[in-house]
Amino acid sequence: MTTISQYTKKLYNKDITACTDRELYHALLDMSREAAKSKESLQGKKKVYYISAEFLIGKLLSNNLINLGLYDQVKSELEEAGKHLTDIEETEPEPSLGNGGLGRLAACFLDSMATLGLNGDGIGLNYHLGLFKQEFENNLQKETVNPWIEEHGWLTRRKVSYPVRFGNLTVHSCLYDIAVTGYRNRTNQLHLFDIDTVDEGMVADGISFDKEDIEKNLTLFLYPDDSDEKGRLLRIFQQYFMVSNGARYILDECAEKGCNLHDLPDYAVIQINDTHPTMVIPELIRLLTEKGIDMDEAIDIVSKTCAYTNHTILAEALEKWPVCYLKKVVPQLVPIIEILDDKVRRKFDDTSLAIIDKNDNVHMAHIDIHYGFSVNGVAYLHTEILKKNELRKFYEIYPDKFNNKTNGITFRRWLLHCNHLLADWITSKIGDGYKLDAAELEKLGEFTEDKEALREVQAIKHANKKILKDYLLRTQGIEIDDHSIFDIQVKRLHEYKRQQMNALYVIHKYLEIKRGKKPGRPVTIMFGAKAAPAYVIAKDIIHLILCLEQLVNSDPDVSPYLKVVMVENYNVTLAEKLIPACDISEQISLASKEASGTGNMKFMLNGAVTLGTMDGANVEIAELVGKDNIYIFGEQSGAVIEHYEKADYCSKDYYEKNEDIKEAVDFITGPQLLKIGRKENLERLYKELLNKDWFMTLLDFQDYVKVKEQAYKDFEDRDSWMKKMLVNISKAGFFSSDRTIAQYNEDIWKLDK
Ligand SMILES: *Cc1c(COP(=O)(O)O)cnc(C)c1O
Repeated sequence: MTTISQYTKKLYNKDITACTDRELYHALLDMSREAAKSKESLQGKKKVYYISAEFLIGKLLSNNLINLGLYDQVKSELEEAGKHLTDIEETEPEPSLGNGGLGRLAACFLDSMATLGLNGDGIGLNYHLGLFKQEFENNLQKETVNPWIEEHGWLTRRKVSYPVRFGNLTVHSCLYDIAVTGYRNRTNQLHLFDIDTVDEGMVADGISFDKEDIEKNLTLFLYPDDSDEKGRLLRIFQQYFMVSNGARYILDECAEKGCNLHDLPDYAVIQINDTHPTMVIPELIRLLTEKGIDMDEAIDIVSKTCAYTNHTILAEALEKWPVCYLKKVVPQLVPIIEILDDKVRRKFDDTSLAIIDKNDNVHMAHIDIHYGFSVNGVAYLHTEILKKNELRKFYEIYPDKFNNKTNGITFRRWLLHCNHLLADWITSKIGDGYKLDAAELEKLGEFTEDKEALREVQAIKHANKKILKDYLLRTQGIEIDDHSIFDIQVKRLHEYKRQQMNALYVIHKYLEIKRGKKPGRPVTIMFGAKAAPAYVIAKDIIHLILCLEQLVNSDPDVSPYLKVVMVENYNVTLAEKLIPACDISEQISLASKEASGTGNMKFMLNGAVTLGTMDGANVEIAELVGKDNIYIFGEQSGAVIEHYEKADYCSKDYYEKNEDIKEAVDFITGPQLLKIGRKENLERLYKELLNKDWFMTLLDFQDYVKVKEQAYKDFEDRDSWMKKMLVNISKAGFFSSDRTIAQYNEDIWKLDK
């Protein structure tokens, strides 16, 4: 058996006791890298390539130790030497390669592919500064760089390089791999392409940099600000760089296995995660024709190799690139895209199905749907809306391509790693079969009337609340009361997710308490969210929340009963602390707008009760736990879609008809907040809510308040609340990404195991 001290000796010539946590981190990193290496498997014939602009993988050490079966041994060896894994973990930087749910999903999928023993790798980019790091200053979001790459880290440099051509600029790529460990199974790889000429020093003042110096900026940031043309062009440079490298890597690997290119679909399946990697389709066609395959056959081969996952129905989020941009960055793809468009136009006389529209915009999703063999949505409701509304015409011509794959999360990270107390308790009750077969969590159903068991679950929740309390105090200087209700909304900031509705509730509650209506138990409403740097209203919402935090928490009449917390720089590391401690999980998007959500699943698995709308996977959660174990409010998706179709929603009507709404909205620009915050931001948000409110906050506000108050009230019936917690945990098995990935493989990838 290898031990940690063998590694500390080799690296530092020291015993464990003499090492710093940082040194121990490096020793453990080497130890797990070697263990992972020994589990690399022979290639099967067919392989899935999961290509994605984002992989929000989180810290890797503990997860790898768990998956490699080293965790218990390492923990006890460290403890014998007076060291703690939790301290060591804190010295690991979190890779910043993703933005939100879509990137986190890609990371969960890689974990499940390796865990199920599937031959499948990820392909993406190695962003040096990742997504920005969020700081708060004067109650505003400020963006700074988030460097995460270290000399001695998880990246392994490969001897792979391709010349990538952009018009008359050619750059040479390099490749780094990160090992993806399966839970007691094989090791796969995440391939991250990069170039050596990137210059982190070119970033000045926050996150601004010269967007035109492609050789220096190409893999600096994930999602560079696209509010101007230079930023949009840079995104196309990045996307093409990713897919061109990916396509060549895939062709090379297949060729090595004896593929003759005509039979490519027998060797490779490419899962396109949202539209960012769409150019892999024309690029592969281009490469195949370059190798002598004729155009029609190349199109046919690629169409049998690529499958597309849709993640959104928000029209503004569906990528369209002007042909003139593509001509500037990737002129070699334009004739191919024109051929693809021409074929569609010949076959269907409906121009709404075309790839290039009348304004010369290329609809990336249309390329995926026409020239991929599978189109999937990410939750039951989402897929139904795609088929019946957003993509109805495509569904009519390609009914067999459409399928649903409800998202999932890896239980290794989101239970075994982030909530040891709960995982150990579950094991003590039902054994550890659930670790490989999540459906076994159902066995916990036996204990929903067992008072002793329920008290244990409750004690674990309280212990996790204390751990969070200590962590927030130590890392962010935030003080919270572990006996209060933890009501948490953490996710990217977007108007459709409606953090503004939760903020309006805070105002409402604040005013009630001021008037003397004091709640029996204090409540802590926590937020965590980054806003895209150019998303003005999203930043205004953050400003409102931060101003409320200052106002509420410093008001001695109110703060004993209500606290508002906005954690800084919400990321995977913070999610792992917040989620196990949560009582009420806020999933309050406007029905029809959240494709699935995966935060909702993580909370459920950790015993939080959902307060949400009938949106995304909330619908499936509600179905599984039953109406007594979830708090549902708000208009349903059908009615919402009708409001959009008829354009009959008018937020001002709700404002004028309802005193509570008027009072809460007016408060945004009232004297108390203007004293703390910035007039410009608060007024803009006020006007937005009153005159537009595109995501219908005011429509659902009244019902939201009512149902949320009911949840707070029910929380006091401790026995029945504990039962709700346990039912949620026991029904969460369906949301294991192992189930999701098994379905992808069964229906789409069809890899031989
Ligand atoms: C799971 C996760 C998300 C996605 O949350 P949603 O509520 O599904 O939007 C975003 N960010 C982080 C850090 C996550 O872990």
